[in-house]
Amino acid sequence: MAERLDDTVALVTGASSGIGEATALELAGHGAKVALVARRGERLDDLAARISGTGGEALVIEADVTHEAAARDAVEQTVRQLGRLDTVVANAGMMLLGPIEGAPVDEWQRMVDVNILGLLYTSHAALPHLLTAASSGPRNVADLVLLSSVAGRVARNGSGVYNLTKHGVGAFGESLRQEVTRRHVRVSLVEPGAVATELAGHNRPEIQEGLRSRFSNMERMEAEDIADAIGYIVTRPRRVAVNELLIRPTEQEQ
Ligand code: NDP
Repeated sequence: MAERLDDTVALVTGASSGIGEATALELAGHGAKVALVARRGERLDDLAARISGTGGEALVIEADVTHEAAARDAVEQTVRQLGRLDTVVANAGMMLLGPIEGAPVDEWQRMVDVNILGLLYTSHAALPHLLTAASSGPRNVADLVLLSSVAGRVARNGSGVYNLTKHGVGAFGESLRQEVTRRHVRVSLVEPGAVATELAGHNRPEIQEGLRSRFSNMERMEAEDIADAIGYIVTRPRRVAVNELLIRPTEQEQ
């Protein structure tokens, strides 16, 4: 049975679009105050207005989580202004695909920076606050949800460095889970298949064309489907930890 998140505070990175935006709305709907973190401030302002329009409370934090100080400031600002931190969804990410041979290595740099370092910096800064939340009500449990991917489970030709980053998220998450689970910080890994968001749009045109034809015969998931799954994870009773959730479109084979 789902528990309410009233009197708790959540922080979502990559809240300006796609899964992060839908997740922020979902968590606000469960009663959490939500800190919205991303680089595109106007998008966050718009989302914050939608959340307050439905009676919720949101804090806009324009930040690039690939900078350690910025990720730390985002966490500290949340605790300063909203009072505590119970739930973190480390969602900000990029997917730049293509063969390894001849790849523009700046694409690798951008993915490693956000998918790995951004997630590490956010988790590291948040952890002391999550441990405090888990030991000092209102739910006596805290959640760190890490966005991996099917690409974190299965490697594909043409996806090597994205695979590397998402497999890394899985390994980090499992190690951290073992470290903190006895102190009631739950670390959960979410591994979506294809979701209709802006993610593919950052690729080179020929890569985007390949993705379009790969998914042309398939009904992809919506961001709200993943937000719903994250809502499920963080509203479980204290005794239940959903460690890992692999969630594909019904029509996606691999
Ligand atoms: P979107 O492109 O819609 O969202 C990505 C978000 O990350 C944006 O809000 C963007 O905001 C933010 N972001 C990117 N770089 C930074 C940065 N340096 N600092 C702060 N925020 C940043 O894609 P999705 O919603 O699809 O992706 C969300 C997560 O889900 C990613 O980790 C992705 O790998 C994962 N995922 C997605 C799947 C899909 O099919 N869509 C499948 C499996 C996993 P801004 O540009 O404003 O900074």
